[in-house]
Amino acid sequence: MSPARPRPALATVPLYAPDPTPVSLDLSDNVNLWGVPPAAARTLAEPLAAEPNVYPHSDPAELRAALARYAGVSAAQVITGCGSDDVIDGALRAFAAPGEKVAYSAPSFSMLVTFARVNGLEPAPVPFRADGDIDPDALLAQRAAITYVCSPNNPTGTGVSPEAIERVVSHAEGLVLVDEAYGEFSGWSAVPILGRAPQLLVTRTLSKAFGLAGLRVGYGLAAPEVVQVLEKVRGPYKVNVLGEQAALAALAEDVPWVRRRVEMAVAIRERLRVGLEALGLRALPSAANFLCIPVPDSAALGRALLGKGIKVRVLRQLPGIGDAIRVGAGPWEQMERLLSTLREVLR
Ligand code: PMP
Repeated sequence: MSPARPRPALATVPLYAPDPTPVSLDLSDNVNLWGVPPAAARTLAEPLAAEPNVYPHSDPAELRAALARYAGVSAAQVITGCGSDDVIDGALRAFAAPGEKVAYSAPSFSMLVTFARVNGLEPAPVPFRADGDIDPDALLAQRAAITYVCSPNNPTGTGVSPEAIERVVSHAEGLVLVDEAYGEFSGWSAVPILGRAPQLLVTRTLSKAFGLAGLRVGYGLAAPEVVQVLEKVRGPYKVNVLGEQAALAALAEDVPWVRRRVEMAVAIRERLRVGLEALGLRALPSAANFLCIPVPDSAALGRALLGKGIKVRVLRQLPGIGDAIRVGAGPWEQMERLLSTLREVLR
């Protein structure tokens, strides 16, 4: 018997395999480092509302309505998924045929390239402008089936100007996917554009500001016609019972808690920047809950920090930046530990 043969295009797809070393301080995932919001935590401690021997809602209407209220759109404009990863993956499959292009500004969210390749699409990276903003005309020149804009961008943290996004949305030929996984931290959203942009999809998540990464609840916001297509591609039951219950509680009661932690993350991020400068490290401008810090050898620095129980994201040879580490902003005690450990290992 011959061995099972994967599609040839998969040979170039890297496995997403974050370092599994257990640490006492994990700053590598840009999650909410203050923890789980209180109403969601209470709900998780209560018995399940539905027995887990039956399926969850195939398409959770109540959760869609709650997300719609939070985002200021109608429930027909909301699609949910197993993390926003699920919505992004489905959107690439739904709105581009194999062989078509996905344009994006590089460097950006690494899974975008993986999802593109896995779906048989051609990743089409273009450089950022010298001022750090996306280059709308370079993106549009790709004439891609899908144009992806990460706002703010991961892994750089840099914000994207509303004008640049408006330009992409008004001139793109295919779907424009604005990834707002860190949107709460930037204070700007493409959602108000949805009313006049039938080809726009905004993806968001409860994994970051909302502190629920382990429950895997993400969502997309788009015109109802786009949502209907995404529903077909996504399939049923992607949000599990526990995730649905906790998400409903968080959206009903925890929004002020989330907003306060967002303010704290933004203030602490800038305080961390100053602390890093004192060590000779210059972080890139950030509109998210993390800093991207160019360094000469990120692998060596990442290993040294890991040896002291701190995990950061190691980024190798980013286009236009080089090596960098990425660190999440959290409670100041955690940042103090990062700074003092950096002081030690950089000596
Ligand atoms: N987009 C960006 C830019 C991200 O950084 C992440 C998570 N790392 C995601 C999407 C996916 O997040 P989730 O699936 O947890 O919603």
